[in-house]
Amino acid sequence: MRTTPISDLPTIRDTLRASFKAGLTRPVPWRKQQLLQLARMAQENREAFAEAIAMDIGKPKTEVFFAEVGTIVQRSVMSARALDSWAKPVVVNTPDWQKAWQPTVHKAPKGTAVIIAPWNYPMVLSLSPLIGAIAAGCCAIIKPSELAPHFAELLAELLPKYLDTAAYRVVLGGVPEVTRLLELQWDHIFYTGNGRIARIICAAAAKHLTPVTLELGGKSPVIVDPSFDIALAAKRTLWAKAQNCGQFCAAPDYVLIPRTHQDAFIAALKVSCAEFFPQGSMNSDSISRIISPTHHARLFDLLRRTKSQVVLGGHTEGDSKIEITVFKDVSADDSLMEGEIFGPFLPIVPVDDIQDAIDFVRSRDHPLALYVFTENAELKQQILDETMSGGVAFNDPAQQLGVDELPFGGVGESGHGTQNLKYTFDTFSYERASVDVPKEAEPFNAARYPPYTAEKFKAMTGAAFLEIPESL
Ligand code: NAD
Repeated sequence: MRTTPISDLPTIRDTLRASFKAGLTRPVPWRKQQLLQLARMAQENREAFAEAIAMDIGKPKTEVFFAEVGTIVQRSVMSARALDSWAKPVVVNTPDWQKAWQPTVHKAPKGTAVIIAPWNYPMVLSLSPLIGAIAAGCCAIIKPSELAPHFAELLAELLPKYLDTAAYRVVLGGVPEVTRLLELQWDHIFYTGNGRIARIICAAAAKHLTPVTLELGGKSPVIVDPSFDIALAAKRTLWAKAQNCGQFCAAPDYVLIPRTHQDAFIAALKVSCAEFFPQGSMNSDSISRIISPTHHARLFDLLRRTKSQVVLGGHTEGDSKIEITVFKDVSADDSLMEGEIFGPFLPIVPVDDIQDAIDFVRSRDHPLALYVFTENAELKQQILDETMSGGVAFNDPAQQLGVDELPFGGVGESGHGTQNLKYTFDTFSYERASVDVPKEAEPFNAARYPPYTAEKFKAMTGAAFLEIPESL
């Protein structure tokens, strides 16, 4: 893959900063036009994007159109349509005596941002943050992942044909390029990837007090209440797990199910797997491949070290194919439970009962997503009250991501900050407060000016304290 010369990076940053300072990205009509251009770029080149992403990770065209290109087209146009209302200054409600000051909250752009994206959904994870940056009126550099080089090169070729290069640039490269970018000062860093690198990003951001969004991953559990339809729970879980061959930040990572129902769930997974992939998941063109030999070797190592029983799949081929594999009787200290799996493995961890499952989730890092199959309203509320996670989906894993209007983000180890439509706009904006105090307010100001007297003390502090009610 081509890389952007490291010596160019400060100049690129300075160009964007100058554009921001000159007000290029401020006018809302200009931002809308850039958003529509981004939608055109995605739509007009959808075949090329699908081919590039297929070359990088073997992602089926259906998944690319549905979860990447289509998402960018939709979110760009939806953001352009909503922008007037998002960007509108809001006059806040105040006590009567302050109303004449017109106390207002302005949504102001943060400045020049850098967006650092991973390889697994290379398009949506580079361009969805960009949509928010454009909408908010920021300039931005996009650094796509070097592990999806065909996509990255295509983006670098197409973006300048559609967007204003004085405001938006693609930087190609890997660790050396990001390292140099991170030495420079930015007004926001939007990072999507793993927690180890997130710590490097945060340490670099701290030097400049730069705000950071961290979209990370983790082990997203699935809890199955056995009174739910087991066949449907298995089918939906398997579908979510198979997306991008499990290389999906919110993929179901492991299943917690009362041990009495473990075998029934496994039997149902086998039925669904045979339906989805009649010729086997490794030979199907309806599933992605593993991104790189290194990632393949990591997964192979998990497979080699597990002490649990393989009950479905378990085969690998070459350095890019691994079958969807289900593991039975997985214990909490098994190799499969060490970290995020990020591949087509589904460990089943048997528990005594649902309370045991909840306790298991509570004893671990907060995941990006929590999935629960149940129709029991009390149990749903209990799980919402007693656990933490970036998002929750009851009865259909990953569908929380299908609702663009919901915030998407993690908590604790799964990250902080949110995105999607207005949430991404808010991420790249800051709330600027203003008042405009009329000259006519001056008679009311007399008491605030020194020297302080007993009368001024009374006037200034008389209303400061309240009768605090016992309860509300
Ligand atoms: P990756 O290896 O592509 O890295 C992500 C970015 O970090 C790349 O642009 C890369 O150039 C940069 N990078 C790599 N090493 C670096 C270093 N030492 N210093 C500075 N920058 C560096 O992707 P990844 O991290 O393997 O992505 C997978 C992880 O991302 C998983 O944990 C997954 O859960 C998470 N993820 C989260 C989301 C989300 O939205 N929450 C989405 C997708 C992936």
